[in-house]
Amino acid sequence: MARIVSVLLPLPLPEAFDYEEPEGLGLSVGEQVAVPLGARLAPGVVTAVREGAGGNRPLKPVSGRLEALPLSPATVDFIQWAARYAAELPGLPLAIALRGARAPLPRPERLAVLSGHPPSRLTPARTRVLGAAREGPSTPADLARRAGVSAAVVRGLIDDGALEMRLAPRPDSFGAPDLDLPAPPLNDSQAAAAAGLRAMLEEGGFQAALLDGVTGSGKTEVYLEAIRAALGADPDGQVLILLPEIALTQALISRVTDRFGAPPGEWHSGVAPPARRQVWDAVAEGRCRIVVGARSALFLPFRRLRLIVVDEEHDTSFKQEEGFIYQARDLAVVRAKLEGAAVILASATPSLETLRNAETGRYRWLRLADRHGEARLPDIRLVDLRESPPETGRWISPPLAEAMAETLAAGEQTLLFLNRRGYAPLVLCRACGQKLTAPDTDSWLVEHRYTNRLVCHLTGFSMPRPATCPHCGAAESLVSIGPGVERLEEEARALFPEARIAVFSSDTVRSAADARSMVETMAAGEIDILVATQAAAKGHNFPNLTLVGVIDADLGLRGGDLRAAERTFQLLAQATGRAGRRDRPGRALIQTWAPDHPVMQALRAQDRDAFVRTELDERELAGLPPFGRLAAVVVSGRDPATLEAFVREAAAAAPNAEGVEIYGPADAPMALVRGRRRKRFLVRADRQVDLSAYMGAWRARLKPRGSIRVTIDIDPYSFF
Ligand code: ADP
Repeated sequence: MARIVSVLLPLPLPEAFDYEEPEGLGLSVGEQVAVPLGARLAPGVVTAVREGAGGNRPLKPVSGRLEALPLSPATVDFIQWAARYAAELPGLPLAIALRGARAPLPRPERLAVLSGHPPSRLTPARTRVLGAAREGPSTPADLARRAGVSAAVVRGLIDDGALEMRLAPRPDSFGAPDLDLPAPPLNDSQAAAAAGLRAMLEEGGFQAALLDGVTGSGKTEVYLEAIRAALGADPDGQVLILLPEIALTQALISRVTDRFGAPPGEWHSGVAPPARRQVWDAVAEGRCRIVVGARSALFLPFRRLRLIVVDEEHDTSFKQEEGFIYQARDLAVVRAKLEGAAVILASATPSLETLRNAETGRYRWLRLADRHGEARLPDIRLVDLRESPPETGRWISPPLAEAMAETLAAGEQTLLFLNRRGYAPLVLCRACGQKLTAPDTDSWLVEHRYTNRLVCHLTGFSMPRPATCPHCGAAESLVSIGPGVERLEEEARALFPEARIAVFSSDTVRSAADARSMVETMAAGEIDILVATQAAAKGHNFPNLTLVGVIDADLGLRGGDLRAAERTFQLLAQATGRAGRRDRPGRALIQTWAPDHPVMQALRAQDRDAFVRTELDERELAGLPPFGRLAAVVVSGRDPATLEAFVREAAAAAPNAEGVEIYGPADAPMALVRGRRRKRFLVRADRQVDLSAYMGAWRARLKPRGSIRVTIDIDPYSFF
């Protein structure tokens, strides 16, 4: 009987295409194949195989199997599920899943081995080299070093035919994890949480847990223990640890390596393609049993995924905002479900969605009581900027400056937190009042002094800081308004000229290696004052850091979107949570113009539960997540009239459904980006509505023409 195979291509196509299976090929789901597409051959992945033949139109045959490892069937299911959830083309998540499969392998090493032919003459030096070569293939340089001879001696033996060169694949380093290495004894609260997680793993099947404990309570130790249990229970089992930031991966990789005696696979955009390919292959073969990665690691072709840990689960960086739009934390839960695996969400400030799932019993809720050991949470004080304002043109208030002086005198470290890159967020012309923006985008240009450029943080556009106003031509009329971390550094230097000061932002820390060296320098006490954006405010442990100063606590509240309060609370609780470890108590000063705001009050009292209660009640009243669901549709185009007409059509094309409300179209808050005008719809649905299906149906009715583009964002986090 002939068979038909459906093949999904990593291209923007609406569905998998059917092909005929050539006699005897014996394909199965997940295999990588080449198929004809128009006049060319395209690589793809088998998503289904069934008996039958093409109807009236004969199907084209599959050209052949690729020499590449298959994806597990669960990985294929997950890719298709993810596309449906995002109301997107399935080729997009497939392209993410294949990102490592197509990368070049590392170049093979050239190794010298004994050829079996004796050399034409022997010297003591040559004898030593041949002796060393007898121990196994090695590079010529290594042979020379081990034999204690010059490179010329080895080269002579190669020319002579006694040694020959062979190409050998570069080994990867994913050794088997050692599950018996000693670990620090857990404290009572950690032990209870670890027992809860072990019980969950023993039960087996899909399970979800929230590991909830203040910063420094030892959550990492607890989930490392759960990982040990998961790997121990299944000799082929694999574990994925997802982190929100590349900057956090290095510290965790060290901890995993120490704990299990072998480095985990590392997966994020900073990993070079050949190393990525090694991880991809090793994961597909099941050799790599622990992966530490950023969100796209979720699409790796695990063969036997038993546990996913999402650390700092509340972090909004888990939301991928471009291309294929998805929330990695939510998809991690889905992947666990499809794999029949467990998932642990860890955080000191869990998202309201996750807390709600824990509250209603959908997730197990494991709480760690306190900081580990002697360490206490920092004392938190609000600085009312109405009462203690900084001098004009300055941003550090007198009480914060005083605390910094005390900290410096005690030989301890300060972290100044300001979530704004660059020197100043806005440049204004005093003569004509214009705010400088990029030529084709609405957002303000941010001044960067290190590079002396004005940069658009939305699009990456940049230009040199002009000498005269581009609008009115006035000279020396441009003024920098407000602070960024660079300007704060300047102020800190003026206040404490003797202090060692560094800036930690995505401009100064560009790679995982930069992050590691900055964290090490800070941990070694070689920095007195670290001026940082959120890049440094999460996850890290700095033992000598005892003061955190939050420069502008109200910054994140101004946008006023759905999650503004939640996000501000999380970010500031994390930032202030950096203060104080072990024997040194810490303190945090939060500068705010609105000390009575519920977020500030909750931070001061360290009363997360009160904040969560108020916030959840408000969301429930409005039917907003986690009690209802949201989606956004952004329609953009170059020509305003065409866009206007298309948006009207789109509004009329929205399917009618019970429990769904559509707001808009309205100008998006950022109404012009890269020369494209943007209009937005917001969709609110009751919880039981299948919002993905609804959005998919709506999208299917839209036929964008010309430059019009439609972007659908399920569970949006940014509302620009
Ligand atoms: P969290 O992940 O909750 O922020 P960590 O697991 O990073 O906390 O722990 C904070 C600090 O306390 C780390 O330096 C860690 O090594 C240490 N620590 C945690 N638990 C233990 C333990 N049981 N024994 C010794 N040190 C611990």
